Amino acid sequence: MQPAIFLDRDETLTVDKGYTYKISEFQWKTGAPEALKLFKEAGLPLFIVTNQGGIALGYFTEADMQAFHAHLQAEAAKFDVEFTDIAFCPHHPDAEDSKKDKPCTCRKPEPGLLFALAEKWDIDLSSSVMIGDRQSDIGAGQNAGCAAYFDCDFAADRPTIADQAAYIIQKHFPDRMTP
Ligand SMILES: [Mg+2]
Ligand SMILES: [Zn+2]
Repeated sequence: MQPAIFLDRDETLTVDKGYTYKISEFQWKTGAPEALKLFKEAGLPLFIVTNQGGIALGYFTEADMQAFHAHLQAEAAKFDVEFTDIAFCPHHPDAEDSKKDKPCTCRKPEPGLLFALAEKWDIDLSSSVMIGDRQSDIGAGQNAGCAAYFDCDFAADRPTIADQAAYIIQKHFPDRMTP
């Protein structure tokens, strides 16, 4: 088992204009490519865990999202970075068919997406880190037993996810720092 970095997508890695799925709207958040490179240099596998309730609400299809993710991987490859896997929750509590069923166990802050990835890829959650821009991201990480951080921390003078990445590596993976 090895540790990993779990990342939210919208407003953590990429700019969110609200239920983003169009490739033409793809845009990195400031510092995101640098953060991904730092984690890669530290030898940490990268996973995205994302709530995509727009699927359940009918705003876009799973195929639309998969096309967006293929583009995201291609853009990451320009920086020599690859996401090992991307896990998503397609459900939404306001969707028609959700009301009949129990709430899903994958919509963050539920930890289902992280549990599934950890099992599939043999990841040690207790030494892993989740990063996101919302409290639901922090909750999902903590509910899965990971350390969890917001994508930036202005109070601590870490205004971008690149600053956070450097801090997280120093704090949690000091033996993996590149000189
Ligand atoms: Mg987000
Ligand atoms: Zn779900």
